[in-house]
Amino acid sequence: MSVTPDTRALACNTPAARCNTATLLEVDALSLDSAQFIAAMAARHGWATEKSLDRYKSLFREGHARGLEACTPAPIARRLSEPSGEGEVLKFTQKHPAIPAGAAEWGIPTDGPAFDRLSRFEHLETESVLIPMIGRTGRPSHTLCISSQVGCAMGCTFCETAQMGLIRSLTPGEIVGQWFAATHLLGNRPKNIVFMGMGEPLDNYDNVIQAIAVLKDHNGAAMPISKITISTVGRLDGLAKLAAKLHEPGWHRLNLAVSINAAEDELRSSIMPINRGMPLAELQQTLTHWPIYGGGKICLEYVLIPGVNDDREHAAQIGRLLAPIDSHFKATRDARTPRCMLNVIPYNPRRDSPWPAPSEERVTEFLAWLGEENVYAKRRRTKGRRMMGACGQLGNEQIRRRKPVALTVGQQDDEATQRQTT
Ligand code: SF4
Repeated sequence: MSVTPDTRALACNTPAARCNTATLLEVDALSLDSAQFIAAMAARHGWATEKSLDRYKSLFREGHARGLEACTPAPIARRLSEPSGEGEVLKFTQKHPAIPAGAAEWGIPTDGPAFDRLSRFEHLETESVLIPMIGRTGRPSHTLCISSQVGCAMGCTFCETAQMGLIRSLTPGEIVGQWFAATHLLGNRPKNIVFMGMGEPLDNYDNVIQAIAVLKDHNGAAMPISKITISTVGRLDGLAKLAAKLHEPGWHRLNLAVSINAAEDELRSSIMPINRGMPLAELQQTLTHWPIYGGGKICLEYVLIPGVNDDREHAAQIGRLLAPIDSHFKATRDARTPRCMLNVIPYNPRRDSPWPAPSEERVTEFLAWLGEENVYAKRRRTKGRRMMGACGQLGNEQIRRRKPVALTVGQQDDEATQRQTT
């Protein structure tokens, strides 16, 4: 759903939004870009444009509420930190109501079994991670790893979040609230934002796109869109919508990362259930024709799991998967550089993991094999693994296996059914 100022103002009058005159727009201000906020405040409170813009800038740029106190995000409930070679990794948790204000507006159930299930929770938690980086110039910065859902329905077997199932999607304000908390509550304004926390962003497409519209608003957070990355398991329906979005002015430079983790269908289906309904050949086609603007690359992620996907043949399979994508790119753009960049992520064991982390020697060896296959690959430096803050490790231990929903894409399999009943 795309949000316009008019529909926001109307939404405030609907019983489903369950708001009174003053609250929804206040509570939901982090969900609105400045134009939407100005229109909504004029409609609801008769505010002049200058006043609304001044308050909006003050809220986003300085973190000052100035009469918009209800706009500030969920407070930080917990934080954990762990040193790394590039600085301190900080994981923080925010508590959210199980049913947020204006739930219906953001596609969150307000009745039926899904609502009943949600209502059983006193509150929900999101986890986000501030990751320190030292750039080529030696300047320190932070990347914020952000969550788009509480839990996830995708069921990747190597991932801690998958063990929770999907509890619910986050509203745009709850997503933007993670940036707000990092910037104004923790004092760490991130240079980059990656949607690599809990959840599959394309499973919450409308709210994620609306959140990015807010984050990139030059009157507010003013994040350059080239510094924002959506990471997906490869939901083809979501990728089709995203490809169309990238053609719109102001959206060209949004980055894409796709979790591959195996370049052969049987193996990929065994660790990523989405592959059963959306196999690699279709994903390869989509990536081959992905919109190209500037020198942007497609980042592919490969979690290297010992004994699962770390053999010489697996490197060769990756080479065969990516070669047509790179060839097409070089032919159509007369480019010398490859289109795809493979990020090799040494597996970070989830709780009760059947696999250990790979050895350094194996990671190095695998990268060398990728080189032999002409795959442009880099190693993701491991940060925050001990505090369960590294890639694939976010998730609330208490909620695990409580009442997750089934997979939302592809065929429901025995595994998904099992998860529903545990
Ligand atoms: S890896 Fe991503 S998409 Fe897969 S279960 Fe975990 S959070 Fe969901």
